[in-house]
Amino acid sequence: MDPVRSCIACRGQGNWRDLLHLVLRDNRVTPDPSHRLGGRGAWLHPNCFEVAKNRRSFQRAFKTGENLDLHELENYLSNLLNSVHKEQK
Ligand SMILES: [Zn+2]
Repeated sequence: MDPVRSCIACRGQGNWRDLLHLVLRDNRVTPDPSHRLGGRGAWLHPNCFEVAKNRRSFQRAFKTGENLDLHELENYLSNLLNSVHKEQK
């Protein structure tokens, strides 16, 4: 049986394959789709990113009050969405 993870934004639970694994490195929220990075992890539905950002779910998940750098994650997600659009054409 696959482990069940809950999304930091909507708290919905899902199969870990449906959730993106994130790790915190030097205050950067880093996507870790292949689960190779160590450190404190969090799980997010790719389409819950805006919710997580607005609710400061990242700060809560990583237990920090610092402003986190989300650029890497934003780039990753926009590439992800672009590739989905391409496949649909
Ligand atoms: Zn979610």
